[in-house]
Amino acid sequence: MSARIRLPLAVVLVASAWFIGCNKAGNNAAPANPVAEEGLKHDGWWCDEHGVPEEICALCNVKLVADFKAKGDWCKDHERPDSQCFVCHPEKETEFAAQYEAKYGKKPPKAQM
Ligand SMILES: [Zn+2]
Ligand SMILES: [Zn+2]
Repeated sequence: MSARIRLPLAVVLVASAWFIGCNKAGNNAAPANPVAEEGLKHDGWWCDEHGVPEEICALCNVKLVADFKAKGDWCKDHERPDSQCFVCHPEKETEFAAQYEAKYGKKPPKAQM
């Protein structure tokens, strides 16, 4: 009888050890957030270098280039989408910066042109 009681107990111990180990691994994978809050690192949304949301940054994501060119949205002089060319369209920089400010409550880092 006692052997039948011990067995499930052992299973529970192993299971909870696995669970704790699993939680630890989850915590170790987390510390990306405090760095992102400093506003200096990419948090996956904003491209600090180019002053636009990462998902539309054709300078970082070259797969987007063909799409922009197909739409005729391309600045040949500066090799970037015309709608992201702050040299030709300074007002676009202000527009994108406003998106950033709405989300983070502060101005974005100056884009490198
Ligand atoms: Zn970029
Ligand atoms: Zn341009």
